[in-house]
Amino acid sequence: MAGNTDGKGPGTRLVGAGRREEWTGQVVNPPVWRASTHLYACEADRKAGGPQGKDGKFYYGRQGAPTQWALAEALTQLEPGAAGTMLYPSGVAAINGALLSVLNPGDVLLISDNSYEPSRVMATGFLKRWGVEARFFDPLDITAYEALFCKRTKAVWLESPGSLTMEVCDIPELTRIAREKDAVSLIDNTWASAIGFPALERGCDISVMSLTKHVGGHSDLMMGSAGAGERYYRALRRTSVQMGNVVSPDDAALALRGLRTMGVRLERGLQSALTIAKWLRDRPEVAAIHCPALEGDAGYDLWKRDFTGGCGLFSFTLADAIPEGRAAFVDRLELFGIGYSWGGYESLALAYDAAPIRNAMAVPCADQGGGAAMSIRLSIGLEDPADLIADLEAGFAELKNA
Ligand SMILES: *Cc1c(COP(=O)(O)O)cnc(C)c1O
Repeated sequence: MAGNTDGKGPGTRLVGAGRREEWTGQVVNPPVWRASTHLYACEADRKAGGPQGKDGKFYYGRQGAPTQWALAEALTQLEPGAAGTMLYPSGVAAINGALLSVLNPGDVLLISDNSYEPSRVMATGFLKRWGVEARFFDPLDITAYEALFCKRTKAVWLESPGSLTMEVCDIPELTRIAREKDAVSLIDNTWASAIGFPALERGCDISVMSLTKHVGGHSDLMMGSAGAGERYYRALRRTSVQMGNVVSPDDAALALRGLRTMGVRLERGLQSALTIAKWLRDRPEVAAIHCPALEGDAGYDLWKRDFTGGCGLFSFTLADAIPEGRAAFVDRLELFGIGYSWGGYESLALAYDAAPIRNAMAVPCADQGGGAAMSIRLSIGLEDPADLIADLEAGFAELKNA
């Protein structure tokens, strides 16, 4: 068996996490337990049974079975400070499930204005309709952030680096202020995962991930998770059970399989991304690079201080690109697919207008090039970086011709 891997390195912990013998039996991977109905030996046995997690006792399919429990337990073991993890059918479902666990009508939610777009849409859509007031803040302006708190402020939604802007913010300081004001700190930790950013240790109360990205890792799975310490895990669990969230055991087995290799994939993606970002930095077609793990990036110092890893996702802004040129560049790429999502083994490119990225405040953020700037986000996969660079070089040749 995997043995106790507490306190060991990330690779060792990823290999051992969640592999309880009572769930795996005599095989390596937790098998796929497909079940709605769990049968009890006798009436006394049924009465002794409890909901998910309690000594792994069977209850009913909606509370999961050993495959899902193994995944949830693995994620809990990988998140220092976590008491438990809830699984959701997508990352967005995890974001919303976590927010609904801590918010009530009348509350104010402070939300970082570089958050993933569906998080912002939840804040201005469903939550607004539900009586929660969302106030957006610039995560780099701590004074303005602190001034936004009021008696009704219940929670703070964070993401670092921010979606698209790739800005790294000072999570320990932002969460310290939230704690002082009695507000719950939640973070979308999809970019770094618990391996690259131990969110609860850095001051967050609830850490949310889209498992669709790095954990799945093979672009064939949708899932999300939210983990927390004792206090908020109970809130997460209560809300999720009431909402009827359940993930399929087949998907849980895929996520568990992905988890075992996530450490090497993250590290390889990060190293290749750095190689490619350094190459891009010297290209005349590139105005700016947004890659927190690259020395000289605006977020580098905070990344270096707070993070223990990263991944292959970063972006760059084109100098003077016309829309046709940007399209020609992306269309010319052969090894980069054009697609949403990221964190898979294959490289992807996505073009977007760099400003205004901060939709809610309509403030173009510093260093992103103003109104007409155009950016390309790259998700670097497991291909050889030299081949990816050659592909990008061919794209730049096309840009010149457009
Ligand atoms: C993709 C993504 C999500 C949502 O995940 P899904 O599994 O696609 O619902 C959440 N946060 C970030 C930062 C993402 O990139």
